[in-house]
Amino acid sequence: EVSIFWFRRDLRIQDNRGLHAALASGYPVLPVFVFDRELTRGTDGPFDRRVDYVHQVIKCLDARLREHGSGIFAEPGTPVAVFQKLCEKYDIKAVFCNREYEPTAIARDEMVRKWAVEKGIAFHDEKDHVIFERDEVMSQGNTPYSVFSAYARTWKSRLSQADYQELRSPVDRFFGFVPPPVPSLRDIGFEKTGISLQPLEPEPGRIANYAQCRDYPAVDGTSRLSVALRFGTVSVRRCVAVAIRYSETWLNELIWREFFMQVLYHFPRVERECFKPAYESIRWRNNEAEFEQWCEGRTGYALVDAGMAELNETGYMHNRVRMVTASFLTKHLLIDWRWGEAYFAQKLTDYERSSNVGNWQWVAGCGCDAAPYFRVFNPAEQMKKFDRELMYVRRWNPGFEIKKPMVDHEFARKRALEVYRAGVQWY
Ligand code: FAD
Repeated sequence: EVSIFWFRRDLRIQDNRGLHAALASGYPVLPVFVFDRELTRGTDGPFDRRVDYVHQVIKCLDARLREHGSGIFAEPGTPVAVFQKLCEKYDIKAVFCNREYEPTAIARDEMVRKWAVEKGIAFHDEKDHVIFERDEVMSQGNTPYSVFSAYARTWKSRLSQADYQELRSPVDRFFGFVPPPVPSLRDIGFEKTGISLQPLEPEPGRIANYAQCRDYPAVDGTSRLSVALRFGTVSVRRCVAVAIRYSETWLNELIWREFFMQVLYHFPRVERECFKPAYESIRWRNNEAEFEQWCEGRTGYALVDAGMAELNETGYMHNRVRMVTASFLTKHLLIDWRWGEAYFAQKLTDYERSSNVGNWQWVAGCGCDAAPYFRVFNPAEQMKKFDRELMYVRRWNPGFEIKKPMVDHEFARKRALEVYRAGVQWY
């Protein structure tokens, strides 16, 4: 008789709520990870940094568990097929996991829950990825928030130390059975990309300086924890504890993450549609050749092109530059935010559906934001302000001085305002 703990985007042993619940269930725990075919199918060829990253983490976790006479049962396939196979071998009493908020993940979990119930297996999911979820932070009228500042205020007023208390899990409660070795990256159809696992923990010194440094892309001044948070190699409770001690500004960023997750949970349509419906009538120009120029970093705007080069070469882009490149695509080129969102989704190692959609819509002006659409970033001014010494653009876009802008800023700004004005009726 065993309980399964199903690892997904919570790839750590310490302070893992679902794993903790599984270990408390009274049965030995068999840890399982599924290299889900549904998820890996849409990826960017065999050199996918995300799959490589997850694979490395699973190998590390497996090695740690093997020191305790256990290991991770890791297989490619679909969750139900893998569980079905395990059922033939073990008397499974329960499946434990951590709750997710994206429509596709919710649908997948419902399918597994249904399968489990039919088999007489209990299915438990716990809150782990966020401090507050679903209807825990609601407005006075008991409706979900759609403006960050109000959400953050309520989030902070609700927070007590118990909400970010870390749990310690006794590793000796795992199953005393050693599973077959984790398949190699090549066995699951992928190749090494050179991505490394660092960093996995918030560094107090860096967080303490965050507010001063975070807007300068040439400075390594942000936490660089987005991939760790995406795949749960760091616990959000650990991050919040550090934020409370060292930086309210950084705490706000963690709250943005939760805000967008809960927006997507409450309004699943925002995955594809503008949060503000009136913005659906904007007549995007959607010029394919211009889109290609943007993707390849050939707009002639030094900061935009440097950002796209950083993204294309590393799978990461600094937040300030994400805003400038996204604004350039939607406002200067009048290309639908969904095109940019899809391109980032393909390239970002920290790709998070809720954050990507949320931020793209925020920049395009059609999302959860009290501000109207007429904020149009000036990419040359942004560079003067945030990369005054030109260190970032020199690193990612050498020779930028001789490149000609593909569109004049003033012309593009006026055109954007006209097209937006014509599309959006005030409501
Ligand atoms: P830090 O500045 O140290 O922030 C700490 C953590 O807070 C981040 O790791 C992240 O989990 C969260 N966070 C920070 N800023 C935001 C934000 N604006 N919205 C939501 N969460 C935030 N972040 C993603 O994790 N995945 C995405 O797919 C993603 N797409 C984006 C697309 C656009 C157009 C823009 C403007 C921003 C996007 N962001 C996304 C948010 C932000 O740019 C990254 O989280 C950040 O740059 C990651 O670097 P860091 O870990 O050093 O962040």
